[in-house]
Amino acid sequence: MDFKNLGLNASLLKALQSQGYTQPTPIQQQAIPAVLQNKDLLACAQTGTGKTAAFALPIIQLLHQQKETGKTSRAIKALVLTPTRELDIQIEESFKAYGAYAGLKHLAVYGGVSKFHQVRSLQQGVDILIATPGRLLDLIMQRHISLQQIEIFVLDEADRMLDMGFITDVQKVVAKLPAKRQTLFFSATMPPEIVRLSQSMLHNPFKIEITPVSSTAETVEQAVYFVEKADKRSLLIHLLKNNEIESALVFTETKFGADKLCNALHRENIKVQAIHGNKSQSERQKALNNFKNKDLRVLVATDIAARGIDIESLSHVINFELPNIPETYVHRIGRTGRAGASGKAISFCGMEEKMLLRDIHKLIAQSIPVMQNHPFQMADASLSLPARPAMPYRSLNKGRRDKTFRQR
Ligand code: AMP
Repeated sequence: MDFKNLGLNASLLKALQSQGYTQPTPIQQQAIPAVLQNKDLLACAQTGTGKTAAFALPIIQLLHQQKETGKTSRAIKALVLTPTRELDIQIEESFKAYGAYAGLKHLAVYGGVSKFHQVRSLQQGVDILIATPGRLLDLIMQRHISLQQIEIFVLDEADRMLDMGFITDVQKVVAKLPAKRQTLFFSATMPPEIVRLSQSMLHNPFKIEITPVSSTAETVEQAVYFVEKADKRSLLIHLLKNNEIESALVFTETKFGADKLCNALHRENIKVQAIHGNKSQSERQKALNNFKNKDLRVLVATDIAARGIDIESLSHVINFELPNIPETYVHRIGRTGRAGASGKAISFCGMEEKMLLRDIHKLIAQSIPVMQNHPFQMADASLSLPARPAMPYRSLNKGRRDKTFRQR
């Protein structure tokens, strides 16, 4: 199966060739023909499966065909709604790459930066708009954007929209779309709320399920280190002495924790930067570019800032702290081992995180191998919980389990 068999036109094939793509991924094989036939789509797939190209390629082709038949207008014809600024920029970059020869205009709009340039670009006419919900609603309110002529709507990472509390904003956006449209719905997981949302938006969709979220990429080698909270920093510094770790994306649970760890690594002369919600957009983008260009060896990130980040040849993902939501573990380690490349995922598990590790094991239906005999080994390097905790487990974890978790 190659891209030609999927019915893609010459300008897209040329762009794909310059990207070095030879084979469509499974989601692309299924989604592209369906979207080209103007069908609605319900795709359960996580980042790393090639889902961006799965919707971007047929959208470019459909809009390009319109242009060739002389049907042109300055109105926005396709809208991609995505939860984070980083994803927003990344998706726009994909449209730029795949649409290099299609002559369409695309624009990413997101919050945290001035509206000035976004408004100016909107005034010049945009075919494909990629937006985060808050900024989009803002620009609609100020009458800089009309969704009246939208023909294709993509909802990307619907489950993450739910996690981030954006569902009401998504519904507000959907209410402003024309009833007659093509809708492509993407979500890594399908909790009941997401199923209901999809049912309210889709008409007789073509359904695709690629990698269930519980399945971790087979190319990712996983390991867990039992280590006391106070020793985690020393263990990380110790591990980073090994040159095998070419590039590491290190996850912390809090912005404060990310900054603290970043400073500690910096003091050890490790090339490191942190990205999280308190950093300005330009700081985040700069750090990301430095990491992609290998000017940085380590990027410390919180989940929201790192969601969907696409870094080719990332050798290691390190969970400095385990996530509250087990699915997040799968998302995190999916940052490495992409498109068949090998990668390693290392997780630090402290005494009070054992329950979180158990939840992850349950979700991925396997036990992550334990790394024995490291210099910062915790006394009780097993999954057994403390016999008589001073406080009930939930109190020990106060504040770490969020609303979403409790709802599960
Ligand atoms: P996504 O799931 O859209 O975040 O894509 C994950 C990664 O796979 C990105 O780096 C894409 O550039 C890459 N990719 C997407 N489709 C293909 C393909 N057919 N062949 C090789 N790489 C691809």
